[in-house]
Amino acid sequence: MNVNEDRFTRLKLVNEFTEASLTRLMGSKVVIVGCGATGTHLAEALARIGIRTLKVIDKDVVSWSNLYRTALFTEDDALKAMPKAISCAQKIVEVNTSTQVEPVVDEVNPLNIENLLQGYDLIIDATDNMDSRLLINEFSVKHGIPWVMTGVESWYGNSWLINTRAGGPCFKCLSISGGSRRCRVLGVTPMAVKMVTSASLTLAVKHLLGLTKEEDWSTLHLIDSRELDVRKIHVAKNPECPTCQHRKFELLGKDFIPIVKPSCGKNNVIEITPPEPVEIDLNLLLKRRQKTKVIASNPYTVKLKLSDKSRAIIFRSGRALIEGLPYRKAIEAYETLTGIKISHKLAKTDY
Ligand SMILES: [Zn+2]
Repeated sequence: MNVNEDRFTRLKLVNEFTEASLTRLMGSKVVIVGCGATGTHLAEALARIGIRTLKVIDKDVVSWSNLYRTALFTEDDALKAMPKAISCAQKIVEVNTSTQVEPVVDEVNPLNIENLLQGYDLIIDATDNMDSRLLINEFSVKHGIPWVMTGVESWYGNSWLINTRAGGPCFKCLSISGGSRRCRVLGVTPMAVKMVTSASLTLAVKHLLGLTKEEDWSTLHLIDSRELDVRKIHVAKNPECPTCQHRKFELLGKDFIPIVKPSCGKNNVIEITPPEPVEIDLNLLLKRRQKTKVIASNPYTVKLKLSDKSRAIIFRSGRALIEGLPYRKAIEAYETLTGIKISHKLAKTDY
């Protein structure tokens, strides 16, 4: 092994972590969807334990309100409005130079999921919404790639290794008749984040080492960080499940992403995605901004103050998050700043 000999000395004293199992971990490929509270903790922990191929996917930038519950991010990231995926990748190099992290500043959606998640041994869900989990679930069932669901709210959370390839139930088996798909801004404690990501890390590492068995992939862990309690709930396969039983992939089949939509998990923020792939010259945008004040800029994003109550974050990819403006005003501001005309295409959207 080409590795600092001292790095895993203490880990190798634990029975399951032999030279062979460490080599197996190092050769594993893991993709983490979402790089917020749970995603940063899991990315850091996986890099520290030796995973050498990681991809982290997140469409957002680091904000001050992230810092109390995330790993890796610093005040400087919030000041610069750094994309979370980029910051995460940059910090992980400092944790383990042998880990290659591919950052993706985007969301996982039906149009790109096949490209983004293909070829990995394990998918980690570190998102905060049901739509993303249901989409990941369809991809996982279709391609037989296991995933670890990780959810946190308030003092509580859940963690579940979903492995239909081995015969376990899928996420839709549990959520077939329930579960809110509404985007909400959730309260979260860092204690819940730590406990839940610890559980997900255990499931991920056990899976990658081949240490899981049937009861692991049919067990949902309900975690209560206030009472320091973990309850195990048995999940049975649903014989009527459209996803794993009938292999109907309704979300994967979607071929349309709205150009303008409310941003999930943020109040009063509109998200704009250009209809065609573009790369914005952020220096040109800074010249075009006229009197709007620059709050932060970096090679990937520019954050502008449009008025006392409105802000815009423009990504190099042409995506934008516009806060505090009504729909039409947000579109006008986007077109003025980026030079990309979208209003003539909006009649075709379902917004
Ligand atoms: Zn199912």
